[in-house]
Amino acid sequence: MILDRFDIWVAGAGYAGAVAARALAEQGKRVLVLERRDHIGGNAYDCLDGAGVLIHKYGPHIFHTNDRKVFDFLSRFTQWRRYQHRVIANIPRDNPEVVPAHKVTDGRFFLPVPFNLDSLKNAFGEREGKRLGQKLLDAYPAQSQVTILELRQNPDPEVAAIADYVYEHVFVHYTMKQWGQTPEEIDPATTARVPVRLSQDDRYFQDAYQGMPLEGYTRMFERMLDHHNIEVRLGVDARPLLKEAQGPVIYTGQADELFDFKFGPLPYRTLDFKFETLSQDCFQTHGTVNYTVDQDFTRITEFKHLTGQDLPGVTTIVKEYSRAYTGGEGETPYYAIINRSNNALYAKYRAEADKYPNLHLLGRLAEYKYYNMDAIAARALELAERL
Ligand code: FAD
Ligand code: UDP
Repeated sequence: MILDRFDIWVAGAGYAGAVAARALAEQGKRVLVLERRDHIGGNAYDCLDGAGVLIHKYGPHIFHTNDRKVFDFLSRFTQWRRYQHRVIANIPRDNPEVVPAHKVTDGRFFLPVPFNLDSLKNAFGEREGKRLGQKLLDAYPAQSQVTILELRQNPDPEVAAIADYVYEHVFVHYTMKQWGQTPEEIDPATTARVPVRLSQDDRYFQDAYQGMPLEGYTRMFERMLDHHNIEVRLGVDARPLLKEAQGPVIYTGQADELFDFKFGPLPYRTLDFKFETLSQDCFQTHGTVNYTVDQDFTRITEFKHLTGQDLPGVTTIVKEYSRAYTGGEGETPYYAIINRSNNALYAKYRAEADKYPNLHLLGRLAEYKYYNMDAIAARALELAERL
């Protein structure tokens, strides 16, 4: 490989790597992108499965942002399908006295998530739900939402009872499945991603720009990386080559792996995805259904809701099972486990990276953060400008 033809090397062709590569290529830099997998797109990669259904191989991805700059940048490489994600929780009816009978199907009932004023009506019936909703509005007159941890601090007995209900039916079991820890034990910013809404807005995200790339994420990445100044090599682990680099290197993989785990492995959660293709038009009413109280999986996503693909008689769903990442063969580290001691461990790797002025750690893995796609794209654009 002739490596000195390039001004900048990028390890990883996900959001971080691809956005940075394109922005730098447009500044006239010759960019080499090395990707370990046999495809581009990182965890946002999508492809057709055996039945022709467009699936997301590494879990469901819905694009949403308030960042106009990011949205405009990505919009150069894709058109968008208008899509607003809506999620319901599927819950066994534990208390027949409370949930109205007409809301129950096969012993289960449904709550819009994020939990909102309509969720209260599903849970407690029209009149009582409305009364409790007013109680919440009076308790937080200046807010449009409140986190579950904040709600649990409220001293009013009736508000506290609502908090207990939401905690039990939406948060505690799901969080235990996802993290192996309670909502109090994990980073508060994580449960704050899904607040209790003091309105009837049942959209999962409230961002100004939301949607799905019309022809899929992979197509969008293909266009982004299609530039005369960019060369992409797939199936290449960048690490053994990095010492050859003459100029700046943007590394978007795991920071601990880059330094041979010299301070010990950074903890992550991984997911097992179980895909099922079914001979029916449609499996569920919503793009994603969260199983917030029972089942071993956290949620089921049916891709056709997200992509809008018109494919009668067949559909594919995915169930997500979360567990500790062990670093075993074929495992992917999906979620950094943000807490004080893990952040301190990460800081050691960061300090090690800082010894190399040409090395730039960028992305969800490399920065050990819980970033959405848009946040990574924004950081990649910033870094490209700085370089
Ligand atoms: P990645 O996508 O992980 O890309 C890193 C790339 O680097 C990978 O392709 C990897 O193979 C490659 N790489 C690693 N090490 C090396 C190496 N040594 N050499 C060469 N290549 C290497 N965000 C949203 O905004 N909306 C969503 O709905 C959403 N849903 C999600 C659902 C799940 C289940 C998960 C896990 C995440 C979700 N996200 C979502 C977050 C989103 O996946 C990330 O923000 C985004 O993928 C981060 O991009 P990245 O480039 O930092 O990392
Ligand atoms: N969460 C929950 N119940 C839900 C949805 C989310 O307890 O029905 C909590 C859980 O701790 C989860 C966090 O909120 O990890 C963030 O949820 P989000 O849907 O944003 O997670 P992601 O899509 O990133 O996996």
